[in-house]
Amino acid sequence: MRIFDPHIHMTSRTTEDYERMAAAGVKAVVEPAFWLGQPRTNVGSFTDYFDSLVGWEPFRAGQFGVRYHATVALNPKEANDPRCRPVLDVLPRYLDKDGVVAVGEIGYDSMTPEEDAAFAAQLALAVAHDLPALVHTPHRDKARGVERSLAVVAESGIEPGRVVIDHLNEVTVQLVRDTGCWLGFSIYPDTKVSPPRLVEVLKAYGTERVLVNSAADWGRSDPLLTRATGEAMLLAGFTDDDVDRVLWRNPVEFYGQSGRLDLSDIDAPEPTFAGNSILRGGG
Ligand SMILES: [Zn+2]
Repeated sequence: MRIFDPHIHMTSRTTEDYERMAAAGVKAVVEPAFWLGQPRTNVGSFTDYFDSLVGWEPFRAGQFGVRYHATVALNPKEANDPRCRPVLDVLPRYLDKDGVVAVGEIGYDSMTPEEDAAFAAQLALAVAHDLPALVHTPHRDKARGVERSLAVVAESGIEPGRVVIDHLNEVTVQLVRDTGCWLGFSIYPDTKVSPPRLVEVLKAYGTERVLVNSAADWGRSDPLLTRATGEAMLLAGFTDDDVDRVLWRNPVEFYGQSGRLDLSDIDAPEPTFAGNSILRGGG
């Protein structure tokens, strides 16, 4: 089983996670820029983070045989902090970088006017830079958040096939399915959508335009839930080809729209490690 996790925050994961993921078949990941728990107080804090997403973290992933790309954005939560809004001005230079395959995570946290402004501005950046967009949907008041997100996406003029509406569930998927946007599902260990629940969604709606991710970060989450979802699909009677479509070809097609997805030599032999610790590059 080859797996592409289209939404995982590897910055907060250990080297052991990379090893377990590679062993489970995870060959490629996309890490979206998001908040880090601790509020950031200035633009420099973001640029160091973005530099890590296009520099250090792809290097670290490569040590474990995992291909890594990133998305960059001012996340919805921090869009509310006036100290962070100037991040919008530095985004264009990151959106030109080779390792950046979309604008994201953008969208809503609490649905404030400040979030409206940052969301619309960043959809305009996606159009201007000819990139797809990854839209986070709020965990509270989710249906209203999805409806409002879809309205902002429609107003922006971005082609719906270049947008994924993420963190959907059985209720909100119905709002998105006929819009032409991609359907993103985050699989979590004990809340929200589980592998068996996702299988039921796939039975009802099919595999087209579906992206499945672990969204693993610093909270309780599991980077192997993409693999568990593939296994649950097979148990339910889906074919190997169905699994490959959902866990590999769909994310390749979605992020491939950036023109920057580099999956060359992805099936090359595993890199050999010097000792049991990661190279520390210049350190
Ligand atoms: Zn996320």
